[in-house]
Amino acid sequence: MKFLKKTHWTSEIRPELDGKEVVVAGWVWEVRDIGKIKFVVLRDREGLVQITFKRGEVPESLLNLVKTLRKEDVIAVRGVVRASKIARAGVEIIPVEVQVLNRVKQLPLDIWGEVESELGTRLRYRAADLKRPENIAIFKISSTVTKVIRDTFYDYNFVEVFTPKIIATCTEGGAELFAVQYFERTAYLAQSPQLYKEQLTASLERVFEIGPAFRAERHNTTYHLNEFVSVDAEAAFMDYNDIMSILEDIIVRVYETTSRLTELLNVLKISITVPRRPFKRITYDEAIDLLRKNNIDVRQGEDIPQTGLEVLSEEIGEPFFIVDWPTDIRPFYTMPKEEDPSRSESFDLIIDGIEIASGSTRIHVREKLEEEMRRRGLNPENFKFHLEVFDWGMPPHAGFGLGLYRLLMVLLKRRNIREVVLYPRDRFRLEP
Ligand code: ATP
Ligand code: MG
Repeated sequence: MKFLKKTHWTSEIRPELDGKEVVVAGWVWEVRDIGKIKFVVLRDREGLVQITFKRGEVPESLLNLVKTLRKEDVIAVRGVVRASKIARAGVEIIPVEVQVLNRVKQLPLDIWGEVESELGTRLRYRAADLKRPENIAIFKISSTVTKVIRDTFYDYNFVEVFTPKIIATCTEGGAELFAVQYFERTAYLAQSPQLYKEQLTASLERVFEIGPAFRAERHNTTYHLNEFVSVDAEAAFMDYNDIMSILEDIIVRVYETTSRLTELLNVLKISITVPRRPFKRITYDEAIDLLRKNNIDVRQGEDIPQTGLEVLSEEIGEPFFIVDWPTDIRPFYTMPKEEDPSRSESFDLIIDGIEIASGSTRIHVREKLEEEMRRRGLNPENFKFHLEVFDWGMPPHAGFGLGLYRLLMVLLKRRNIREVVLYPRDRFRLEP
């Protein structure tokens, strides 16, 4: 099929183009028929533009065609731009040729903002739901955020890498792995690139990866998914303070850039305050004390529950780090503190009561690493492909893992992580 090729996005149709011939293409957003004059509002990814069909001004055949149009039919329009005070955005297109590229049969839900469908329905019919302006805004911002993260890593001289997602052994000895049939053997989907990114510090020094992570957790919360995008960083010759400062810079740049996307933020009815650097760093022990003062009892050495994180966020108000966690509740590769080995060189970044990232200085000496494995009941024999690398000149290093969707969720003030994921995978959702 030969079809008209789009020359302009709707957002580029401005009064200054008056008199110029253009081709726009997209979907019928609205048809208004007031007899002698008919309006078709065409939507594309960038916005809306009005096409004006006036009897006497456009061929009768086009007027008849408009009568057959339904919302979401796919059309291309060749026409002449006309500045007009009364038209939407001060501009309209007078059509010369209209092609109907596809007819819509039926839409499973309202995308025009007249009826708000519930999240379950929207996810069931996600491809249609994604046409909604709010969703287009969310996923354009998501793309920008990813770019800002990537650019910041480049500025710090990190190399972007891709590590395998099909792996033979478990990263951290956990049971939260999905098994997959790998020819004659059982393999697993990677829950994190942890071991690979650490190994890569021995060659590439500073690496980052933005890729999927899989966790077979039976969680059913508004901030856990079974597949998510993990932003991972690992850097040689750095400790946890160095890597925290890079993470802080990433967060501030993400907020700064997003805060300037005013049109998209208006669609989402939110505004964004850029957090100030440096973020507050409170130790795990200070956090426990603060929580006790607020009548939340967390036992020494235990993880801080969700309500605890929320209370701390309310107290502190801005993004903050909880540092120096008990060594025993962090993974085996976490470096214990020299002066008090019961605490570790580790951190979590918390924004609006949600854990956004976890990181630490890592152990880079093989014997020490094996000792920590044994202490946690892990068999070093199962990690021989990893441990041998530590005999080949492993530098001191530090890193973090950040949940991209969690960051987007708090940044865009969405209540459910699923809102910022194109096709979420949770305990009960594998389709579409
Ligand atoms: P949580 O305690 O919230 O379950 P975690 O401490 O197990 O998270 P990490 O192993 O520290 O998670 O992973 C690094 C980051 O990846 C987390 O800080 C979080 O932002 C993100 N993340 C972890 N698990 C999930 C998940 N199931 N869904 C979405 N994001 C996740
Ligand atoms: Mg964590």
